[in-house]
Amino acid sequence: MSHALRVDWPSCHARGLCHELLPEVVDLDEWGYPLVTGEVTEALLADARAAVRACPRLALRLVEAPPR
Ligand code: SF4
Repeated sequence: MSHALRVDWPSCHARGLCHELLPEVVDLDEWGYPLVTGEVTEALLADARAAVRACPRLALRLVEAPPR
């Protein structure tokens, strides 16, 4: 089962911590808001969970990605 990150935009304060912790999956737009650009592979799952736990606004969620 693969996973994906979701951002709760109204809660996010655009400080970019998630990008620092998970640059393989999260990019930042010109205002510093996270753009999920990559897939959470099995190899990145532990780092993705850590990014979710570290988000100071509880604005990140890890969900199961639908099958392709
Ligand atoms: S760590 Fe949380 S609050 Fe900070 S940019 Fe990422 S989603 Fe937004």
